Amino acid sequence: MKIPIDLKTGEVASEKKEDIIVGIDLGTTNSLIAYIKEGEPVTIKSGAGKNALVPSVIHFDAEGAVVVGDTARDRLITDPSNTIFSVKRLMGRSYDDVSHLRHLLGYEIIDGDTASLVKVKVQGRFYTPIELSAQILRSLKQLAENDLGKPISKAVITVPAYFNDAQRQATRDAGKLAGLDVLRIVNEPTAASLAYGIGLDRQQHMNIAVYDLGGGTFDISILRLEDGIFDVLSTHGDTSLGGDDIDRSIVEHWFKTYGFDLATIGKDAAKGQEIRLLAEKAKKHLSSHETYTNSILGREITLSRADFEKLAAPLIQRTLESCRHALVDSGLKASELDKIILVGGSTRIPLIKSELKNLFGLDPDDNLDPDEVVALGAAVQADILAGNRKDILLLDVTPLSLGIETVGGLMDVIIPRNSKVPGRAGRKYTTSVDGQTSLRVSVFQGERDLVADNRKLGEFTLRNIPPMPAGMPKLEVHFVLDADGILTVKAMEERSGTQATVEIRSAYGISEEEMSRMLIDSIRHAEQDLKMRALLESRNEAANISLSTDRFIRQHTDQLTENEIITLEKLNQNLKEKCKGDLRDDIESAMKELNDYSAPIAHRMLDISINKALKGQKI
Ligand code: ADP
Ligand code: MG
Repeated sequence: MKIPIDLKTGEVASEKKEDIIVGIDLGTTNSLIAYIKEGEPVTIKSGAGKNALVPSVIHFDAEGAVVVGDTARDRLITDPSNTIFSVKRLMGRSYDDVSHLRHLLGYEIIDGDTASLVKVKVQGRFYTPIELSAQILRSLKQLAENDLGKPISKAVITVPAYFNDAQRQATRDAGKLAGLDVLRIVNEPTAASLAYGIGLDRQQHMNIAVYDLGGGTFDISILRLEDGIFDVLSTHGDTSLGGDDIDRSIVEHWFKTYGFDLATIGKDAAKGQEIRLLAEKAKKHLSSHETYTNSILGREITLSRADFEKLAAPLIQRTLESCRHALVDSGLKASELDKIILVGGSTRIPLIKSELKNLFGLDPDDNLDPDEVVALGAAVQADILAGNRKDILLLDVTPLSLGIETVGGLMDVIIPRNSKVPGRAGRKYTTSVDGQTSLRVSVFQGERDLVADNRKLGEFTLRNIPPMPAGMPKLEVHFVLDADGILTVKAMEERSGTQATVEIRSAYGISEEEMSRMLIDSIRHAEQDLKMRALLESRNEAANISLSTDRFIRQHTDQLTENEIITLEKLNQNLKEKCKGDLRDDIESAMKELNDYSAPIAHRMLDISINKALKGQKI
């Protein structure tokens, strides 16, 4: 069972109020939005033809009005400088990264500061790729809201596996700007696998190749699925290779075959565009027919499947070359692959399927619409996050924080909740007592500030630390959480090289009810915990001040007046008393009182020391 919790209030969300979390494929050429309807992922369709593909194109008119999708795509020909496409190629990139694309884009990109993030200039205004992507997301959100008749606020968005942190963050920000709470950024090949039902069973282990040939980009990703976690073993591709290149080679072929006058057509953008669209039509037709016939400029034109394949072959060979690279990088043999998944409209070309079968010795999976598969998988991921799939827990993040107990029974988190698995983290500590030769490490799991309220996972002792004054030892506690949910905790003392290790079965041993309860508890008690933590911190600070005051009096008895000694002792005693109570304000004011009184005295002592030093005396 999973319980949806409103993370702001800590309330358990009621059944009725259940939110729909959508899955979004934010593509270079086309974008789609999908959700789970009666247990099955479906894409949301729009327009007269009821198409799920929303062209990732944005048009700005002179008044600043914005349109996205089919209408905007039509403006690519009539108003290219105000029509933005391929924004995805600019996400999270600097001008230097993308300046080579400049000649391909009909709009202006700005190089004011070539090392910082690129901007697009439209109608005299500057837009970041994040703002532009947000426009596309906003329009998808609108589409879903119209279709479902309710507001949408949460989404999962997919990105290519090769996207770096900046590109992922930019995508997340675009979602935020569009008014979406982006619960997860998912790799496109992972989403495609989920759409095929891969990864929904924790027992499943397999190697998957995801071949994605879209309009303008190609990539191949090799994934390993193990214990419900997708690992990207390798990716390879070409960001300027896609269906558009195939269209272009058909156009060239027609020009040659029919002797069209390139000089006149070349100047007529509309005519050129018409021929290009016809070439695309022919290409699509030939994916399911043997010949294509039509007429243009008063001439009948035809293209046979065989001729088409001759034109497409060199481009397809380039993708196969990438596949070979990716396979080598993954460390797998072709025979170790269990599945090939096809993504992107261009994979409908039969030659691609047969070539892939030759290369990998495996029939590619093409039951799902290659245009929709990524969005469908994003919806599946969204459904998992919504807690609607009781049977699965996608184990790519730790559900609860992991940490150790520190002075005063406080929980010191080392691996926070929702961290990626596998993962590792470490933290440095020191001792609080002189001559301490052992360190007890108690490992806890949970969100509360006090370990007493969390779940104890285990405990061990680091022994044989050579005796040193408090604060001298350099202790490091290191957590490694592997893909199986096994937590290995290692403690070492760096100066002496002493170390101890323990292995703990973590997180996943916990039932979901227990997990939900702990999360709810942590939210309900957040305020109380905060107070408790503050109290404990004040106590720790007060204890340190008391200790130094005692030491100060011992070391400076000669220079202090009797009255000063009595007052310091009295104030220190008061502080110690207050520390036994639970009132943080009392501790704080006792601390302040002692500090206020001792500060000028400490100052005087310092002056005495300096004076002595100046007189050449040893201090
Ligand atoms: P992207 O991932 O870049 O957003 P898509 O996955 O939407 O792109 O793929 C678009 C490409 O797929 C276009 O080049 C289009 O011509 C091509 N395509 C669509 N349907 C077919 C088909 N039946 N046969 C061949 N190519 C197709
Ligand atoms: Mg795509």
